[in-house]
Amino acid sequence: MKKIVITGGIGYIGTELCKIYSGESWNNKITVIDNRFISERVNQLRSWNIDFIHADMTDLESVNHHLREADVVHHLVGITDVSRIKEESNSDKDSKMKEVAEKSTSIVLSETSKNCKIIFPSTHVVFEGKKDLIKDIKEDYEKFPVLAYSTSKDLNEKQITESGKNYIILRLASVYGYSTDTTRLNIMPNLFSQIASQNGTIKLFAGGKQLKCLVPLIDVARCFKFMEERNDIKSDIFNLSKDQITVEQVADICKKINPKVKIVKTDDRIPNPGYGLSNKKLLSVGFKFLYGLEESIKEMIYKWSKQNITRNLENVKKGEKEFVDERGKISNHELPEPINLIGYIDSKKGTVRANHFHPIQEQKCLLVKGQFISVYKDLLNKNSQKVTHVVNEGDLIVTKPNVAHAMVFTKDSVFLNLVRGEREHENYGVTHTKRYVLVKEDEKNLLMNSYKFDCRSCGKTNLKRVVSLGYQPLANNLLNKKDAKCELYPLEMNYCKDCHNCQLSVVVDPRKMFSNYLYLSSTSLTFTKHFENASQKYIKELKLSPKKSYIMDIGSNDGIALKPFKNLGFKKILGIEPAKNLAKLANKNKIKTINCFLDKKNLKKIKKNADIILASNVFAHSDKLKEMAECMLRLLKKSGTIIIEVQYLLNTLQDLTFDNIYHEHYNYWSLTSLINFFKQFDAKIVKAEKIDTHGGSLRIYVKKDRNSKIDKSIKNLLEEEEKFGIKNYKTYEMFSEKIYQIQKNVKKNIKKLKSNGKKIIGYGSPAKATTALNFFGISDEIDFVVEDNKLKHGKFIPGVKIPILSKDKILDKNGTILVLAWNFYNDIKNNNTNLSDDFVNIKDLEK
Ligand SMILES: [Zn+2]
Repeated sequence: MKKIVITGGIGYIGTELCKIYSGESWNNKITVIDNRFISERVNQLRSWNIDFIHADMTDLESVNHHLREADVVHHLVGITDVSRIKEESNSDKDSKMKEVAEKSTSIVLSETSKNCKIIFPSTHVVFEGKKDLIKDIKEDYEKFPVLAYSTSKDLNEKQITESGKNYIILRLASVYGYSTDTTRLNIMPNLFSQIASQNGTIKLFAGGKQLKCLVPLIDVARCFKFMEERNDIKSDIFNLSKDQITVEQVADICKKINPKVKIVKTDDRIPNPGYGLSNKKLLSVGFKFLYGLEESIKEMIYKWSKQNITRNLENVKKGEKEFVDERGKISNHELPEPINLIGYIDSKKGTVRANHFHPIQEQKCLLVKGQFISVYKDLLNKNSQKVTHVVNEGDLIVTKPNVAHAMVFTKDSVFLNLVRGEREHENYGVTHTKRYVLVKEDEKNLLMNSYKFDCRSCGKTNLKRVVSLGYQPLANNLLNKKDAKCELYPLEMNYCKDCHNCQLSVVVDPRKMFSNYLYLSSTSLTFTKHFENASQKYIKELKLSPKKSYIMDIGSNDGIALKPFKNLGFKKILGIEPAKNLAKLANKNKIKTINCFLDKKNLKKIKKNADIILASNVFAHSDKLKEMAECMLRLLKKSGTIIIEVQYLLNTLQDLTFDNIYHEHYNYWSLTSLINFFKQFDAKIVKAEKIDTHGGSLRIYVKKDRNSKIDKSIKNLLEEEEKFGIKNYKTYEMFSEKIYQIQKNVKKNIKKLKSNGKKIIGYGSPAKATTALNFFGISDEIDFVVEDNKLKHGKFIPGVKIPILSKDKILDKNGTILVLAWNFYNDIKNNNTNLSDDFVNIKDLEK
């Protein structure tokens, strides 16, 4: 067992050296002597099993017995707060420093045993008096100390070399690098990093031309350890210097890392051109430097700068720096602060934990096994919404203080709770954790039954959040009574990093939405016209014949898309429609329609070999799109074409039409993601067109024949999407930021509108109005909504519970009409001048 004494062990170098010795403090006896007492440091040394002696090295009586038994002394004691230039000299301070240095060194030399090795830090400053620029100064070069610090070190060197003892003198260059509270900021690279971290101005006197020699802190500590271990190196002097670099070059590194820093040069007289030490001798005995100037500066600037802390109140992170081999995977999570408590918590599938918040602590959980849905809500913002997301194995989830959270376990799970602070069970509800019930039993069941954990298109689980619009009712399920029961589901869009598909976080049972549908396509003139034009186009381009061609429409509504074919004499037409009322209506109008969902079990009911299969605004309306696509391909003739129209994600992102997001739309397509989707089948997309229905849609043509020629529209549109950033998660994050800004603006503007004292009456109750009003939290502000569709009269918009009435309930022209069906704003305004003089488009409140 070696006995090692470190004097001045809680200083800048000592702290790093102790850290290295903590690795062997169970085998060797390590003692630190220091006249300072820093609580955190002392506590740290104790926990490392390093002895701490609070004593002054000039006080013989209190230190001699520790020195007597030492095998090695790292003699680091010294006053480091010293003058670097002549003008700063202060004779009292200087003489005190000299006295401490001389006396403590002579005590170390006299009280240690004959065989004790003394390792001592001297300084490059012993060469400071040289007038010319000198590089690569060797150890035996003539010294020229001038100021008190260097003359004192010079004196110590003499004391040691003349003592006849075993010694190592290390002449240190300027030591730089981050350490804890002992970091010395008066050293040039540290000082420059400090300035750079505050976006300040670095002043370069004499243009910063002076040559400096520098050495990283950790390498200095390593070198002391190295010298202690090497019994073959005895009574010798080494330069300990890594870089020879000008002051200006150091400033340039800071500027490179933080371009906001300013550099100002003055052209005053250079006090001396500087000098650099050679490290050849040190390298020749086998020492290796492991750390670099640029990394050290980067570390200091980063640690002292305002950090880009994520805005999200709850964040899920995958492990980083993955290393995979045949044994398995390693990944790391870096934590910004130390933790002092790890809870091991296992949980059964179907149970709920948390339902509380922490007033001060950040919650960090590492999910080791299983899966859970996390639900959270900001408690400091009264308008905040509940947000849900999935946590998968290996994820670290971090929740900010004052954010209520709950975990719904969807598999048997084990997580580690990583705590900074206390978690006394007795103080539950008092100091660290307070109850807040966020998820009750029925909501748990709803989440368990409806959550979508993997990508509908590619099956992977790398889903990232695009936007959360809060818990919302099913947009088209209008209430019959104001207080009728109404289920709320999270309305959140996720993005798949693997195939760029966007989809909702939950899957609502389609029977709850599509079995009795109030939306009649044919009531809209725009859509009737759209399908008329489309049919003529298809007949021409695909050379369809009224006698032979078999036209099928999936999600055929009341027959709107097939009617133009029928009118042109097409005999073989068939609609597939899951809403009973609509199928009935279509059949009544002599458009043959089968009432069912398109899935494998219904396939045998449907006649095969269609020339054309249309699917307009249905290819986002099912969880089982793969099955739907397979069925369509099975029903299609070999030479046939599937023509799909979907709402276009690019328009939603570009035009910020977040109100197109509702539970009926399970999926949000771009051409990029559709191509990835159809790659899985024996099919390919041969042509794509942008069309203007539903605020921007996409029409694609799919062929079974893999040898079909591909139109150039595909390449063009893919390029446009790529340029827009459809494959870049940042695009989606920016979308979400803008949506939250819209929410703030609307709240502010509706308040302003209301302050006029006029009634506000809504116009139109499309699904998008349900989404928007619920997201904005607008309810009592609107007296009632009027609607042209009589089927909706007497009902209530779900969630916000605003009554829907007929127009004759508007008794005077004094109210403000807020147009919720904003895509028809002009028509509504022009056709209803008798209702009010004041029309406002809800879209205009978004600015
Ligand atoms: Zn995917």
